[in-house]
Amino acid sequence: MGEEKAQKRPLFIVIEGVDGSGKSTQIELLKTRLNNRGHKAYITHEPTDSPIGAVIRNIMKGRIQTSPSAIAALFAADRLDHIYNDVNGMKKKRDKEGYHIIASRYYFSSYAFQGEYVDVDWIVHLNAMAKKQFPADITIYLDVDPETCYERITNHRSDIEIYETKEKIKKVHQAYLKYFREFDQGENIVLINGNQSIEAIEKDIWTVIAPLL
Ligand code: ADP
Repeated sequence: MGEEKAQKRPLFIVIEGVDGSGKSTQIELLKTRLNNRGHKAYITHEPTDSPIGAVIRNIMKGRIQTSPSAIAALFAADRLDHIYNDVNGMKKKRDKEGYHIIASRYYFSSYAFQGEYVDVDWIVHLNAMAKKQFPADITIYLDVDPETCYERITNHRSDIEIYETKEKIKKVHQAYLKYFREFDQGENIVLINGNQSIEAIEKDIWTVIAPLL
């Protein structure tokens, strides 16, 4: 055996957090950091930009009315498309094209957002295939005071969605923490203090990602 380091499979990194927690900001910085070190990185998000994702966005904007269970099922369908789509699916991007994948949101978002309205065990069941077939190497939760998130959202945006009231953000934050404890089996979940400066958070994220490369 030579000294050469075995080529590891690219990573699937999930960034979770309530709205305004800084996911998009940190995902861009992580991509840049990976690129600067010679790694290919692909950024993506849920709900996706697919037709299923578009339906979900319309529901979240209040333009389409439906039931919470239908929303949970649509998210699960969107997620499976996100994994398996032949054009830009995450599996293809990682396994055929060699990109590290950085996704804003995955199935813990479904647990946290819909678990209040629908039996969470059913949501877990709906997402079992995604978890089995395309597990995250690491799920990073940007742990931010909900009040701070609300301020960040309202300071910067006018199109508030159905999940973006102050009370709702608090509830979703609590739900994330609960379900991270409850469904931690087979997961690699890391909480990062997202109340810090953008630079400090970026450094903390890099500290957990670098050893996985
Ligand atoms: P998310 O993708 O989780 O909704 P964003 O990355 O879009 O969050 O951040 C929401 C807003 O907060 C943006 O205007 C962003 O510039 C700002 N922001 C992000 N991270 C921080 C931070 N650590 N401190 C202060 N403001 C931040």
